[in-house]
Amino acid sequence: MLEVPVKSSERNQLIDVTELVQVAVSKSKAKDGICVIYCPHTTAAVTINESADPAVVRDILSKLRGLVPHDAGYSHTEGNADAHIKSALVGNSRIVLVKGGKLILGQWEGLFLCEFDGPRSRKLLVSVLKE
Ligand code: ZN
Repeated sequence: MLEVPVKSSERNQLIDVTELVQVAVSKSKAKDGICVIYCPHTTAAVTINESADPAVVRDILSKLRGLVPHDAGYSHTEGNADAHIKSALVGNSRIVLVKGGKLILGQWEGLFLCEFDGPRSRKLLVSVLKE
């Protein structure tokens, strides 16, 4: 298992981590298998979506902000209840196929760490299970 450190710079931010995860896969020396990407944080998440047009990321963050406002009378009093809810909605793991040592993603796809309570130092846990 490898740790991929990621630093966020905004409270809500999608950070393209495709290359960082690919480096971890390459370090594992696995050629074919499945890559598990796990986000061990309760106010962050990991997802796959379009990385070609940055407007997509802006739309995702904008819609999540609308669905889950920052301050809406939540029971959790740390001031980051919205971040916990967004993390639950997006999810904390993804699985990507690995072929020839490369992550197999669609032409327009990228892997994103989703920060909902930044800026913070985060990490992703990456493990490749060989075929
Ligand atoms: Zn909290």
